Amino acid sequence: MTKPVFDKIAIIGAGLIGASIARAAVEYGAAGTVSLYDSSEDVRQRAAGIALGDVADNLATAVAEADCVFLCVPVGALQAVAADAVPLMKAGAVLTDVGSVKGQATEALAAAADGRVHIIPGHPIAGTEQSGPEAGFPTLFQNAWHILTPLADGDDSYGAALSMLEAFWTQLGATVETMDAARHDRVLAITSHLPHLIAFNIVATAFDMETVEQGEVVKYSAGGFRDFTRIAASDPVMWRDVFLNNKDAVLECLGRFSEDLAALQRAIRWGDGETLFNEFNRARSIRKAIIDAGQDSGAVNFGRNLPKGDEDEGA
Ligand code: NAP
Repeated sequence: MTKPVFDKIAIIGAGLIGASIARAAVEYGAAGTVSLYDSSEDVRQRAAGIALGDVADNLATAVAEADCVFLCVPVGALQAVAADAVPLMKAGAVLTDVGSVKGQATEALAAAADGRVHIIPGHPIAGTEQSGPEAGFPTLFQNAWHILTPLADGDDSYGAALSMLEAFWTQLGATVETMDAARHDRVLAITSHLPHLIAFNIVATAFDMETVEQGEVVKYSAGGFRDFTRIAASDPVMWRDVFLNNKDAVLECLGRFSEDLAALQRAIRWGDGETLFNEFNRARSIRKAIIDAGQDSGAVNFGRNLPKGDEDEGA
């Protein structure tokens, strides 16, 4: 058996991502021991009940002697948790996070720096719409990207810490890429944040429409709406914090999206079938490129197993 990358890791925030890291680190031998802490006593009890690792009842016990501390809390909580954790960490240890916004996370973690620990922000491009310790599973990061946004002014020991963190995520099955935090936030604004905003909005609009009975929205949801509801079921605290902390990039994307939507609206109004066809054709080729890049399944209905009698989706 190969030696673990880190002898001990500490996970702060035992939800979907924290629990998945705990499970994967053990499953793939990337950490010797795993300790966890969550501010919620209920979550701590549930995490202990499903044997996620050594669940501590305070932050100090969890991070003591840890070689790497993973902050897996909503991005709005990062600054306070980092400030509490750093003085409790051993010298030379790594402090990382999994927050979906990197500019703000980098500032939050860097503000807690005391020169003794290595701060390396990160973001796994993997997740589900579920939350809580029970939602975690070890294969979540397999074949997924893990983006690290290292600080610019690192010395040799920082480079060594970065290599270890890369090795950890690689052992969990991820492909690691490093990039600038601002670039990460611009890319994720269009690939993740805007799609979630659209999903939250379309679900709200459908349920508010006076002419559509709620029962009918659910009954005929397989016509496409259902796929938006999966995304819109994502954790409201997490997504509130994402939009509050990636404001500029999201507003930029939203502006462009609104212009493009207005162009489609005009094409429908004017019966401009050529514009509609060309736009839809272009969108279809992007879907094909995503499948060709191995970022999704090309199986019908994402390979989802349909309940019996529900095989024909309709449009
Ligand atoms: P989650 O399932 O809701 O878990 C977050 C956990 O952190 C909750 O148990 C929460 O407890 C706890 N927590 C909140 N404040 C805390 C604090 N100050 N100290 C300790 N624990 C605290 O959320 P998640 O989906 O794992 O998301 C965690 C992070 O991963 C977020 O930053 C998110 O942006 C990022 N991320 C999520 C996904 C995804 O698909 N979900 C993907 C990539 C990255 P309470 O519930 O009691 O507040």
